Amino acid sequence: MSYIDSKYLNILSPQLLRFKKKGDFLWNFRCPYCGDSQKSRSKARGFVYRKKNDLFYKCHNCGLGTTLGNLLKHVDSKIHKDYIMERYRSGVKSNNPEPEFKFDVPVFRKKGVLKNLKSISELSTDHPARKIIEKRHIPPKSFSDLYLCKSFYKFTNTLIPNKFPSLDGDHPRLLIPFRDEKGELFAYQGRAFGKEQPKYITIKLKDKDKIFGLDKVTKDKHIYIVEGPLDSLFIDNCIAIAGANFDKPLMIQGKFIQNGELTVVLDNEPRNREICKQMERTLSAGRKIVIWPDHMNWKDINDMIIAGYTKQQIQEIITDNTFCGAVAQLRFAEWRKINA
Ligand SMILES: [Zn+2]
Repeated sequence: MSYIDSKYLNILSPQLLRFKKKGDFLWNFRCPYCGDSQKSRSKARGFVYRKKNDLFYKCHNCGLGTTLGNLLKHVDSKIHKDYIMERYRSGVKSNNPEPEFKFDVPVFRKKGVLKNLKSISELSTDHPARKIIEKRHIPPKSFSDLYLCKSFYKFTNTLIPNKFPSLDGDHPRLLIPFRDEKGELFAYQGRAFGKEQPKYITIKLKDKDKIFGLDKVTKDKHIYIVEGPLDSLFIDNCIAIAGANFDKPLMIQGKFIQNGELTVVLDNEPRNREICKQMERTLSAGRKIVIWPDHMNWKDINDMIIAGYTKQQIQEIITDNTFCGAVAQLRFAEWRKINA
């Protein structure tokens, strides 16, 4: 990214109210266009964020979106002039004059009730929890929204009083947030780091289907559905449905997803009766499913990654082994028999 952009944002920052750096290439302050909330002096809904090689501004109160250059010009025309000169001298190509703001505006994930937890990205590289996650080859870009929850029962009780009546046997878990399309937390899953049972505990904060990845998925591309949130991180445009209801109608960003627009990718466990039942039900609903080839001996996508398959290879295997209708019924019967 052009360092000039961030340099000039910093030069401007004393003139921006409640200016804060929120992350890599993400800054937040009160909107200098609409003045932000008139009732609350603490609300700050203006954001500068990176898109490709430039910084852009977006206000979540008035909805205004523009280039960093225009923001500089609006607040301080002198700083803006210096900025233009410096960019010109250093040969930076100018911004697309009419950038599109309808897309790619990042979802701003609030830590909210997770504010006292440390994300995996905040842990030192030799922290045991981080090591477990790294050993599973979880994509590092996901580390900032996965958390270490040191006492899972106790933490949950602060949100839902008495959810765990006894704190006996409380232990640390990886907390996986389930966020809605706006990035609001509505449920979370605690995954055991070791052999603790059950392996997954899902806690609902709102009465809503337990679907992971709604903050990242788009209705405009083919959608993949898996069982495990961590598995979903390896597939593009993928969600995970916890509690297994793969034949239920699916609504994403206000659109009912048609059977042709999605593929259900269940774990590779032909001997698991529950999974076989899910596959049958999914096929009966007219959906496409993946039937893993016989040489694949790993039970889920994460295990395949650990065994050395790349993301691209797994995507290809999925594409080549997607079936529906009568062909799927035949292949499914075969798969159960061979692996019985
Ligand atoms: Zn505004």
